[in-house]
Amino acid sequence: MNENGLETLHVRRSVSDLLPLFRQAVRDVHLYHVPLPEGITVKLNQNESPHDLPEALKARIAERLKTTSWNRYPSDYADPLREVMAERLGVRPDQVLFSNGSNDLINSVGLALIDPGTPVVLMEPMFSLYKKAVTLYGGRTVPVRCDAAFQHIAEPFIEAATATGAPLVILTRPNSPTGQVVPIDEVERIAAEVPGFVLVDEAYQEFMDSPSALDLLDAYPNVLIMRTFSKALGLAGLRLGYLVAHPEVLQEVMKVRLPFVINLLTEAAALEVLSDPGFIQDHLARIKQERGGLEGALRGIKGVHVVSSETNFLIFRTPLPSAELLHRLARQGVLIRDVGGYPGLDGFVRVSVGTSDENQAFLFALNRALRDRA
Ligand SMILES: *Cc1c(COP(=O)(O)O)cnc(C)c1O
Repeated sequence: MNENGLETLHVRRSVSDLLPLFRQAVRDVHLYHVPLPEGITVKLNQNESPHDLPEALKARIAERLKTTSWNRYPSDYADPLREVMAERLGVRPDQVLFSNGSNDLINSVGLALIDPGTPVVLMEPMFSLYKKAVTLYGGRTVPVRCDAAFQHIAEPFIEAATATGAPLVILTRPNSPTGQVVPIDEVERIAAEVPGFVLVDEAYQEFMDSPSALDLLDAYPNVLIMRTFSKALGLAGLRLGYLVAHPEVLQEVMKVRLPFVINLLTEAAALEVLSDPGFIQDHLARIKQERGGLEGALRGIKGVHVVSSETNFLIFRTPLPSAELLHRLARQGVLIRDVGGYPGLDGFVRVSVGTSDENQAFLFALNRALRDRA
């Protein structure tokens, strides 16, 4: 018996009776989990920047933190950061909403727009979190499949959104996991012709040569742009993403985003990074150059089919099943991502562009894994 005299009550309660109390939509989705096998020394599975912040910059962030009061709540909407970002983007501060990673904004947009049964038009294949969010809110996904070259055009999105009356179309541009970019005029046609909102996830925007959809905001108040500090800006560990949209549209999303989600450390780091963007340009140039080298090397390996990309990752296929290839690479300490389970991507894997050393180690391991084939 415990001090409350509850021992018997406590023991009789079975967890299997409790779990059905969770909403069916929650019971139905899988827990998000990125496997990290033991002994991995080359981690190329999550499209993070392979370059950490310069030491001197980290020191300045620490200095900035020392002078803030940790006992006080941060501003509701990271106001100082909002002003800096708005100026960089050429929009008003009330057009920018930060959150604790852009993943969190997917939740906020979903909560704001999706009722049970609401249709949401999505690209396929696409970053899996979107489908999960729609499912969790009880919405219905209406997928638009890419063509054989992994390309998307406007027409099927317009048809799907018009036929279902979907209040939301979601585009990832460049797309993950394919690395392809919907041409900007196709995005504009979608924005012009669908009845609802168009959320454009630009997580990999810095790596792309095509123009951003940000310029559509002025003419199309139904466009929302989502970006992140997790990829090119190298702050995945600090969790920061943002939406850019028409102020009145953004205000509705703000109502559902929890207050104070940007902590002082994240805000200080982002302000320092934005005040000294030179190193980002340097990292970006290195990553793009490495991407070219990696793609060329993959093309040169017999039996490998690689897809060009406007991101910091590449997908490719080998004669091996994707799971077997992953296994053979992991045994050599190299971790990449199996994307073979996505619609249309059977047999494909995805490798993030790493440092020059990491890419060399990956290519060495890949060649060995393919030689071992028997
Ligand atoms: C990596 C990624 C993000 C970033 O998510 P954060 O929560 O900001 O780290 C968003 N969308 C896509 C498609 C991504 O690949």
